[in-house]
Amino acid sequence: MPERKTYVVEHLDAELGPWSELEYAAIAEETQRTRGTFMLSSLPHGFKVPYRLTGYPSFIAEGRSVEEIYKDEEEKERVCLLDPQADKDLSPDDKRDFDVFLFGGILGDDPPRDRTSELRKKGFQGRRLGPVQMTTDTAVRVTRMVIEEQFTLNKIPYIDYPELKFNDHESTEMPFRYVKGKDGKPIMPQGMIDLIKKDADKSINDLF
Ligand code: SAH
Repeated sequence: MPERKTYVVEHLDAELGPWSELEYAAIAEETQRTRGTFMLSSLPHGFKVPYRLTGYPSFIAEGRSVEEIYKDEEEKERVCLLDPQADKDLSPDDKRDFDVFLFGGILGDDPPRDRTSELRKKGFQGRRLGPVQMTTDTAVRVTRMVIEEQFTLNKIPYIDYPELKFNDHESTEMPFRYVKGKDGKPIMPQGMIDLIKKDADKSINDLF
């Protein structure tokens, strides 16, 4: 059984927008640090890897979909889909049974539209990371903590639905669960707060 795990995000959106790019860069950076492999699969033909994602030797950009990559039955059985609708929660023991952890490369939506079902249909075994929706980079972070650091899900410090304050008058609530960092704040990809702020400014300006 390979000790190093592979984290695959199957890209399911038509484009790769700035929000996804920041999430994927955060996953690439953390995977590089913890010596795993990060694969982004199902990338559109002619896809140009964003600059932010270059320079990580452990990152693989893949045009094929997970179905094509893990065609072999034996390999496919060792792929775990992180699925908000799975019956069973991920546990530290799953380290033995799986080599590959698969995530939907979809922006979280509120209310969730269950687009993970596109991957569920393909017949991978599924595990849930608790009942609350996470962003893709948080889901990878939590999976890594359970599998590689052997945390049980209920021992991980979380922050649910954090409120981001931009100034005295403006704030926004993020409808997701995050891991709580050492500084007590939700762990988010570098640059994400600025991007959210910019989007908030844009929508305020759109009102005028
Ligand atoms: N609204 C979405 C969820 C997107 S979150 C939907 O339509 O399905 C992006 C990915 O993170 C999901 O595809 C899943 O792989 C993972 N994920 C997020 N929260 C999770 C949870 N509570 N349990 C398991 N996987 C989760």
